[in-house]
Amino acid sequence: MAKNAKGEVWTLAELRDGKLHPVSYELLAWGRGVADALGVPLASVVLGDNPPDPESLFQRGADKAYLADNPGLKHYLTDVWARVLGDMAREYAPQILIASATTQGRSAMSVLYAKQGCGLTADCTGLSVRDGALLQTRPAIGGNVMADIMTPEHRPQMCTVRPKSKRPLPPDLSRKGQVVRYAPKKDALASALTFLGFDAESRVGLPIQDAEVVVSGGKGMKGAKNFALLDELARLLGGSVGASRSAVDLGWAPHSSQVGLSGKSVTPRLYIACGISGAVQHLAGMSGAETVIAINTDPEAPIFGVADFGVVGSALEILPRLIDDLKKGGAR
Ligand SMILES: Cc1cc2nc3c(=O)[nH]c(=O)nc-3n(C[C@H](O)[C@H](O)[C@H](O)COP(=O)(O)OP(=O)(O)OC[C@H]3O[C@@H](n4cnc5c(N)ncnc54)[C@H](O)[C@@H]3O)c2cc1C
Repeated sequence: MAKNAKGEVWTLAELRDGKLHPVSYELLAWGRGVADALGVPLASVVLGDNPPDPESLFQRGADKAYLADNPGLKHYLTDVWARVLGDMAREYAPQILIASATTQGRSAMSVLYAKQGCGLTADCTGLSVRDGALLQTRPAIGGNVMADIMTPEHRPQMCTVRPKSKRPLPPDLSRKGQVVRYAPKKDALASALTFLGFDAESRVGLPIQDAEVVVSGGKGMKGAKNFALLDELARLLGGSVGASRSAVDLGWAPHSSQVGLSGKSVTPRLYIACGISGAVQHLAGMSGAETVIAINTDPEAPIFGVADFGVVGSALEILPRLIDDLKKGGAR
C-alpha cells in the first residue's frame, strides 16, 4: 500500500460478550500520542454484531470510530477479522494500525500482515514517532536489549502492544467523535472456521492482567499442591494467582497465569511473589505493580531488589500463617 502522510492512526478495539474490553482504551492512549505527533486523526475500529455505542472510545481519545457491523462478526474468527480489516485498510488507507498483543490481536494481525505484505512488530512496549514514521520499541534477545524497529517502505505500519503496558487516558466526557459505519463484504465473512463455544479456564478471580491483587508462585513453592496456598490467599484478598515460567513449565500452573516476558504483563495494586527468584524476564511482566511483597528463603534473591516489603523465609511456612491471620482478622 502506498505511503499516505495524512493517513489516520487506527487502533483495533476488542469486544468481550459484546462489551468493549479495557485494552481498547489502553490502545487509544498509545495511539493518541502517535496521532498527535503526526498531526492526524486517531480512529478506533470495532468489529462485531451490533457493536456497542462508541461514546466511551471518544471519551478515551478517539476522534473517529469505524464500526464494522454484521451478525457474521458475533464471534472472533481469525480469518474473517483479517479479511475485514484488510478490506477496510485498503478502502480508508490508515498509515498505522495498532492492536493489542492479546490472543485476538496477535492472531488477526499476523494473518493480516502476511496478506498485506507489510511488516508487523509484535509485543511492543513503546511507540513514538521518528522522521514522520512509527518507531516501535520492544524487548529483544531474552529481554536484555530494547530494539527500535521501523517499517520505512510498507504501509500500514502495523504492531501489537502488550496489554497493560499503558494506562488508559482519563475519560473526558466532553469529547465527541465521528462514527463511520462499515458494511463488510459478503466474501470477507465466509470462514474456514466454525465457532463451537468458549470455555473460560477455571481459576481464582479475574484474569491476572485485570486483577488488583496478584499472588504469584515460583519454583520455590516446591510443587503443584502448594499452589492451593496461593489460591486461598488470592481468594481472601480478592485477587488472582500468577506464576513464574519455571512453575508453568513444571505444570504447577496454567500458561495463562505466567507473568513475564513470554507471559503476561500485570499492573496490580499489590503483587506478592512467593518462591520467585526475580529473573529479569519475570520482572519484565510485573515491574508496573504498585506495591511488591516478596517471600523468599534467599536474602540475596534479586526479587528483593524490586520489593517494597521482603520476608526472608519459607513461603510454605509463612503463607499458612498469613492466611490464618487474615481469616482471624478479616482481609482488609
Ligand atoms: C526468552 C526467555 C523468556 C522468559 N520468560 C519468562 C517469563 O515470562 N516469566 C518468567 O517468570 N520467567 C521467564 N523466563 C525464565 C526466567 O529466566 C527464570 O528462569 C524464571 O523466572 C525462574 O523462575 P522461578 O523464580 O520460579 O525459579 P528459580 O529461579 O529457580 O527461583 C526459585 C526461588 O525460590 C526460592 N525458594 C526456594 N525454596 C523456597 C521456599 N520454601 N520459600 C520461598 N522461596 C523459596 C529460591 O531462593 C529461589 O529464589 C524466561 C527466560 C527466557 C530465556
